[in-house]
Amino acid sequence: MNKTITRFAPSPTGFLHIGGARTALFNYLFAKHNGGKFMLRVEDTDRERSTKAAVDAIIDGMEWLGLHTDGVPVFQFSRAHRHAEVALQLLERGAAYRCYVTAEELAKWREENPNKKFRSSYREQNLNEEKPHVIRLKSPLEGYVRIHDHVKGEVTVQAEELDDMVLLRSDNTPVYMLAVVVDDHDMNVTHVIRGDDHFTNSFRQKLIYEAMGWHVPEFAHLPLIHGADGAKLSKRHGALGVDEYRKMGYLPEALRNYLLRLGWSHGDDEIISDKDAVAWFDLAHLGHSPARFDFEKLNAVNLHYIKLADNQRLADLAIPFIEEALNKKLTVADNLLIREAMPFLKGRTNTIMALAEDAKFLVSDLPLAVEAKAAEKLKNSSLEVQAKLNSVVSDLSDWSKTGIESAIHEFMNRENLKMGDIGPILRVKLTGTMSSPGIFDVMAVLGKDEVLKRLNSPA
Ligand code: GLU
Repeated sequence: MNKTITRFAPSPTGFLHIGGARTALFNYLFAKHNGGKFMLRVEDTDRERSTKAAVDAIIDGMEWLGLHTDGVPVFQFSRAHRHAEVALQLLERGAAYRCYVTAEELAKWREENPNKKFRSSYREQNLNEEKPHVIRLKSPLEGYVRIHDHVKGEVTVQAEELDDMVLLRSDNTPVYMLAVVVDDHDMNVTHVIRGDDHFTNSFRQKLIYEAMGWHVPEFAHLPLIHGADGAKLSKRHGALGVDEYRKMGYLPEALRNYLLRLGWSHGDDEIISDKDAVAWFDLAHLGHSPARFDFEKLNAVNLHYIKLADNQRLADLAIPFIEEALNKKLTVADNLLIREAMPFLKGRTNTIMALAEDAKFLVSDLPLAVEAKAAEKLKNSSLEVQAKLNSVVSDLSDWSKTGIESAIHEFMNRENLKMGDIGPILRVKLTGTMSSPGIFDVMAVLGKDEVLKRLNSPA
């Protein structure tokens, strides 16, 4: 059997959105599962709307998601000569014809025959005149065209429902439908996995393959992604560029895992590692109805991968968010501190953005900004207890978490105090909030000097 070759064929008219990213992922996984190749083809034939910025955004988005392609990207527009050449070959094979019907005549015909598919009177004439003309495919007049799609099953269309489509325009430019077929053929694509919106195209594309005597690839057309409420995906639902997910603090492995489950299943598994994804991915378990994009599920998956992620990596990812929030550059020492705190920070929040918010107090300048509710708590605690607590802390020599914990407990027993009496003092003075991570963890990583500084800072 031929080596599996898949492709992702975006039109570079905008960013890599979530639906495109899923299509790319499925093509990537299917190729990897079969030990084949995954290629990128940039469909830039719409010269007005295609931009270099969009090409870059798509490539960056794929890189960030870890969907590395094999070989260099193919740019469709640069292959226009080859597409035209195939149109001429179809002509030579008798599978296409020159059609001299003008645009006006065609518009008139369409008006008069609203429900008919166009077949030109030039179809059987084999003319070769110097007048402006297009090249049209000679579609079959009877019978049917059948596609066996991995998602939709076997679907048949009557031949008379397909017109004699234009292959080459009068200015010698190829139409998109021809370009796709020629490129897929020349790239040796074995499986075309793409959005549902291209399903109807596949019947006409099949006719071109057959007319050239080329092998027809296998097709799998993926149902669209809907919002959590079942409506068509909009920005509000998450129809954003992949880069927006990075900016919101999602990890690429989490987005990969989530997108995989959005239209493919392996029993009830929600968490699927990259290794398992490659080992298990197939076309038999693609979803048959639109999947619903759900931020809550994505958050749960992201939390899972945040917990698994390396502490230094998380610190590095959180730092830009913290720098922006605090409006200052962080130092190497800040970076180390955040990394040290990661074991007790990283199970608490769903996104890197929230993680950064949670970690911010570690590297904030003094006096800390104190949340109103927390300030209230502090006001209610005794100044005498505060003073005694400061001296316990300053006398403490074993600055390990357990050392701190036992000294504070000893102090509480001695003074007959409860955690409720001193917890708020420590939390508010050290972190500025009442919802900080475990306070002994916080003290241990901040270090004695910094803790004393904070306890003595007016807040
Ligand atoms: N360029 C098309 C799109 O962005 C994809 C065409 C295809 O996969 O055949 O929707």
